[in-house]
Amino acid sequence: RDALDPAHGDSAGDGDSAGDGESTGDEGSSEVRVVGSSAELEGCDALVTFAYEEAFLSAGLSWIHSVQAGVDRFPFDELEERDVRLTNSTGIHGDAVGETVLGYMTSFARRLHRYRDRGRDGEWKHPEWDEPFTLSGESLCVVGLGTLGRGIAARADACAMDVVGVRRTPTPVDHVGEVYTPEEIERAVADARFVAVATPLTEETRGLIGADELAAMPDDAYLLNVSRGGVVDEAALLAELERDRLAGAALDVFETEPLPEDSPFWELDDVIVTPHAAATTRDYYRRIADIVRENRRRAVAGEPFVNRVV
Ligand code: NDP
Repeated sequence: RDALDPAHGDSAGDGDSAGDGESTGDEGSSEVRVVGSSAELEGCDALVTFAYEEAFLSAGLSWIHSVQAGVDRFPFDELEERDVRLTNSTGIHGDAVGETVLGYMTSFARRLHRYRDRGRDGEWKHPEWDEPFTLSGESLCVVGLGTLGRGIAARADACAMDVVGVRRTPTPVDHVGEVYTPEEIERAVADARFVAVATPLTEETRGLIGADELAAMPDDAYLLNVSRGGVVDEAALLAELERDRLAGAALDVFETEPLPEDSPFWELDDVIVTPHAAATTRDYYRRIADIVRENRRRAVAGEPFVNRVV
């Protein structure tokens, strides 16, 4: 706690920071401990974690950093009551998720996923003449125009796609031709060949893409979800896909993860399932360490945190 709050005495000594175990240099060294369970948190000031456990609340921590950008599993009110700061990892996933979504769209347009599937049976088969298309000139609606959404929009624009988007504040965003509010979402998706979902999961966004929004999409449209499973009504999506009312979907996130083995999503030809890996890159951990180091520096200097959620 001393390292995190200058009001608690000499800040440059024995506090914790996270990262790769090296000294942070300019503000003194930090002991970094790798813990296997919340029982081992005694004496820790700060925690960098993927999971959330209730025991974190009573562990005497003053700062928790979420390895993920999504913090929907953390209890904001209870953290605030206990004076525990929460930061997240937003701001670092735009490139990786942008490339993943571009990959989904390219695969659907150029039919790569189908060739790969058929190749497993040694089947050399041309697609129907009207199946393949090019991304150039096709339309994309990006729902959520933060780090992820902007990473997606920039790449789609570079492929000469027509990009529109949805965000709460309908002010202009680079690479996005028109920005709609959440109330206008059905209009925003009405002409889209692809709809990419990239909002956080909140009370407002749970079920944001439901039966009405899916019905508003054209028959030849693809839904791409890289946000959280709960943002899309999975049952409604499955119903639309099973009766060919939509062309397909690429899904990185689900209500239940890992996706159960008996999920019908595995079986559909024009559904690409990725295992919550849209943002994964070998540099992920380095980028998170950069955020944590910066916030440790700010804690010592008494400056406001970056990426603060609570
Ligand atoms: P940001 O906070 O940078 O952006 C969130 C965007 O969502 C903003 O544009 C915001 O609008 C918009 N938004 C919020 N509420 C609504 C709403 N009700 N209707 C429409 N738009 C809304 O977050 P990130 O881009 O970093 O991440 C977004 C989410 O993606 C994360 O919370 C996480 O759950 C998920 N994620 C998934 C990953 C994966 O591996 N699949 C990796 C990283 C993140 P405004 O601009 O007006 O504020």
